[in-house]
Amino acid sequence: GLLVVGDVVTDVVARHAEPLAPDTDTAARIAVLPGGAGANVACWAAHRGAPGVRLLARVGADSADWHRAALVAAGVEPVLRVDAEQPTAVVIALVDAAAERTLVTDSGAAFRLGPADWDEALLDGVGHLHLSGYLFFCDPGRELAAVAAGAARARGLPVSVDPASAGFLRGLGVPRFLGLVADADLLLPNAAEAALLSGADEPAAAAAELSRRGATVVVTLGAAGALAADRGRITARVPAAAATAVDTTGAGDAFTGGLLAARLAGADLPAALAAGCRAGAEAVAVVGGRPGRPS
Ligand code: ADP
Repeated sequence: GLLVVGDVVTDVVARHAEPLAPDTDTAARIAVLPGGAGANVACWAAHRGAPGVRLLARVGADSADWHRAALVAAGVEPVLRVDAEQPTAVVIALVDAAAERTLVTDSGAAFRLGPADWDEALLDGVGHLHLSGYLFFCDPGRELAAVAAGAARARGLPVSVDPASAGFLRGLGVPRFLGLVADADLLLPNAAEAALLSGADEPAAAAAELSRRGATVVVTLGAAGALAADRGRITARVPAAAATAVDTTGAGDAFTGGLLAARLAGADLPAALAAGCRAGAEAVAVVGGRPGRPS
């Protein structure tokens, strides 16, 4: 099985044709969808056949039941801690006619997920730990990440990390982030995050450079697919699967879920990258970050 420790978010996606302006009521098509990088990875892994996918996350009482039901319907075992004071995290995505996205975030309960939420039994039956989303960008989350990774390592389980956001990485500081994830077995940045973390603009150079620190590094390249590096060398390159892109939200999460499901099934790294690309292509063809939603 797979344990994902990460975030549950309510995604509010507003698509508007006219430019936004103050004192103007801009018409939009608005969708309210269950999301969150951690939750999305878990859903995609389950969708791709990973057995025993469990998600540890923190939500508010406002939407705990809705999120729990969505996760169960996706085949994920939700372990949701319900925060008495904070609402579930909300991300408002304003998407204009050119598909450019402006994000507005309230981290809410997600930034209170911490070591008090940990339970050693969460690892029972688990073969892989994935640390996701905004876990590294608040104090309780960083502490939980350390506790969970330590427990996984004590059981000999591999640990993967998704850096989640170039903006948050800049805020935290790259050296600090790299210190926090120094023991991870697998790092999964997108091209922008890889450039930021390595200081190398070119993705292959960035992946190679980052992999010298010890982890296997997989960099996603949007419509150009993905590549992997180990100990300073590129070990795999996989093209993207063909897709008609409708909404690129969650492509990276789908990629990660597909890749982890394949790894758990025993696939080698190139095959797992290809599985990730197939899931990523499926994700960009639908609105929202979860599998199986209507486009
Ligand atoms: P993120 O969403 O984290 O920024 P990427 O944009 O790199 O990540 O996308 C993740 C993966 O999704 C890519 O490696 C690729 O496999 C797939 N993907 C993304 N965009 C497209 C696209 N336009 N066509 C096909 N596959 C895509």
